[in-house]
Order: sequence, then structure tokens, then C-alpha cells
Amino acid sequence: MAVADNNRTDSIYGLATPLGRSAISVIRVSGASLPVGFMSSLSLSNRPNTRFVKTIKFKELSDQCLILYFKSPNSYTGENIVEIHCHGNPVIVTEIFEWLEGFGIREAEPGEFSKRAYLNERITLDQAEAISFGIEAGSLKDLASMDAFRSGKLAKKIEKILKACEGMLIVLESQLDFSEEEDVDEVKKEEIIIGLRKISTDLNEILKNYRPITKKQLKPKIVLAGKPNVGKSTLFNYLVGDNVAIVSDEPGTTRDVVRGDLYLDGVEVEIGDTAGIRKTPSEVERAGIEKTTSAVEEANVVIWVSDLSDLEVSRPRCEIWVGNKLDKTNKTSSFICDLLISAKTGEGVDLLINEVKKRVKIDDSYHLVSERIYKKVSNSAEIIAQSLGGDDFYEKAAQDLRDVLVLIKDIYGDFSNEKILDEIFQNFCIGK
Ligand code: GDP
Repeated sequence: MAVADNNRTDSIYGLATPLGRSAISVIRVSGASLPVGFMSSLSLSNRPNTRFVKTIKFKELSDQCLILYFKSPNSYTGENIVEIHCHGNPVIVTEIFEWLEGFGIREAEPGEFSKRAYLNERITLDQAEAISFGIEAGSLKDLASMDAFRSGKLAKKIEKILKACEGMLIVLESQLDFSEEEDVDEVKKEEIIIGLRKISTDLNEILKNYRPITKKQLKPKIVLAGKPNVGKSTLFNYLVGDNVAIVSDEPGTTRDVVRGDLYLDGVEVEIGDTAGIRKTPSEVERAGIEKTTSAVEEANVVIWVSDLSDLEVSRPRCEIWVGNKLDKTNKTSSFICDLLISAKTGEGVDLLINEVKKRVKIDDSYHLVSERIYKKVSNSAEIIAQSLGGDDFYEKAAQDLRDVLVLIKDIYGDFSNEKILDEIFQNFCIGK
């Protein structure tokens, strides 16, 4: 869904905390000018930047809420923001949503608060991305690897390159104006080559130390796949420590991908139990098998589960091949799987977890940065690398520097390309 921009004058609301039961829930309301009825019902009209506790009568019920009011421009979005801290109950939250809609305030789209913050120049695009990835990070290591990105250290390095490019472009442009004087050219040419080399080194330094992140990488996906009845659901329940997936002797019981979360040494991973792969006349089961195929394609690690009494000759792509139902077999036999387990008794499952941990381990020798920024830096490095030789040296170097400047300025959002902005902000959660 694209972030609508033509109605930027609308007032919007969004839940800033997860929907569920908790001590409090925070609902954020933002608007360049918030509806008069809303402002007066909270007695906010003449009280800029205030906070107070108030029992508010919503539609059907009332709740004692903490109200915070941040008057424009001193707020996250740069607009007027009211935060309603109510009791953390989905019924109360829904009631407040309806109450807000009664004033003509609509629900925000994903990332709309941050998009407004960007458009009102409260944050830059790279800061917006750092906020989004910071929320998604599933481990301390991810957050630590993102530190340079989130703290603005990377922005400083890029700023330095930007200044160097601008400085060189000025020299080059003045050089082009006086290009008839041959001996002056020679001196300047050397200087320019040195300058371009320095920019190239700085860009490559970033490429060497940073890696692009995608949201997929922040929460690795593990998928259990295999034929029906091999024990995938039993293993899934054992791993998530709950009876989530149906275990049955009847083949073909799992239809949808059942998902659960696991924490492996502080790394949050998502594990999925899938429909067993087999030829079947059932249309519903076939639809389930299609979902298995796409879950396998998306997964970071596929665990193929086999019944040790019926090992397959060939399997689709998998990272770990486990033979299950070890408790039912003669343990002295030798098997060709990577690991032998019993999902029923838990035997061997520790070894499987260790194998998974190794595969989802984050390489923390790199800093992380968004794919968008990484691409702009690598494209810039390519342009500069090609600029170091060739004919029409001055003209080419000047044009290349102009192109690099466009790319680098885009990192901060020095453009108004609506499509790119939508792509960035629609990946945010609602309320951010
Ligand atoms: P799925 O279709 O691959 O998800 O398989 P299920 O988890 O539903 O299991 C199919 C049948 O195999 C059930 O009766 C399970 O109790 C049984 N089963 C699963 N794992 C084991 C195991 O390690 N040992 C034994 N003996 N039975 C198992």
C-alpha cells in the first residue's frame, strides 16, 4: 500500500505500542492543525507543550489517560502531536480509535509519522531508515552492527565525501573555463587524479566495512519441510515449547504454514511448520503444498525432515537434513542424514539447535546499513573508478562528480521522488 501524500493535511492516529494487553498503550495523533473538537475535548487549545492526567469519556466507556501535547514544530513529525497513554487493553484502544475517527482523524498508514517527520525536515532519509531497522532488529548483535548507521557515524563519513566531491567540482569547473593554458592543465590534472583517488578510497572503505541489510536478514526464517507424517509438527512443537501445530497419524493435516518465534542465543528467529510434500488429489492440501514451496524459497535455513524408516533418495534444497524417529530404529545402523533426532523424546534436538545457531549467526565484523544507501555508495565507487582514465579527462571527471553528487545527496533525501519515498516508508510499522 502506498503512503498517500495528497492528504498530508489530514490528522492521523496510530498505535505506538503493540496491540495487546499491557500496563499502558500509547496512541499518537498528529496533524498540522488538529480538529478543534478534539483539542477542546482534551482542553488543549490554550495549553501548548503540556502533560496531565484526565479521565476521558470516549464513545461507550471512559478511561483515565495521561495526555502529552507537543506543539508544532517541536515534535517527532514537526506537526502538533498529542499522545494518549491509556490502559493497555485492546477494547479501550479500539474505543479510542472510533472516538478519534469521530473527529475526522484517520488511521495512519505504515511509516506515515516518519514520512511526515522527513517531509517537515525533522529527520533525514538515512535517519528514517535507521529508525525503521532499529525497530526490526531481532538481536543485540544486529543493533550493535547498526550502531554506526543509527548514530550518524556513517552520515559523517558520507558528508566528508560529499564535501570533497563538491570541492573538486569547483576546481574542475574553473579549470574547464581556463583549459587553453596547457601547462596549468598538467598540474591540475595530477591534483584531480589524487583527489579522485582519495574519494575512491573513502567510498571503498565504506563498502569494505558495511554490509547491506534487508528486513529478512534481521529475523532469520527457519522452515521445516518434508513428506507428510515424518514428524515436522512434533519437532516444531518441541522447538517452540508449545502445542501449536497439530500432530496426527493422518497424513496431510498441516495446510497453512504454522509460525512461531524462537530465541537462539539472543537471536530472534522465526520457525515455520509446513504442509508435507506429496502428490495429492485434495485441492486444499495442494494449496498448502504451494505455500510450503514459497516458504522454502524465502527461508534462510531449510530443515528437511525424514522418517528414518523411509529415507528419500532425493530432496529439494535444504541446509540441514534430519532423520527423525530415532527412538523407533536400531541405533547401531548407519544413516546418511546430517543429524539423527527423535522429535518425540527430544534426543539429538540440541545438536540440531546448535547447527541452526551456526547458520543464523550474525557476522558482526561488519556494520550494517540499508540496501538503498549501500547501492548508492557502490554506484558512486564504480563511477569514480571509471573516471580515473580515458579521454576528455576534465569534462568526464566533472560529469562523473556531478553524477556522484546526485547519488550521495539522495542518501539524505535531497529529492522528491514520491515512488522511492513510498518504498522506504511503507516498510515501516503503523504508528511509526
Ligand atoms: P508431520 O505430518 O510431518 O507434521 O508429522 P507429525 O508431527 O504430525 O507426526 C506424525 C506421526 O509421527 C505422529 O503420530 C507422531 O506422534 C509421530 N512422531 C513424530 N515424531 C516422532 C518420533 O520422533 N518418534 C516416534 N516414535 N514417533 C514420532
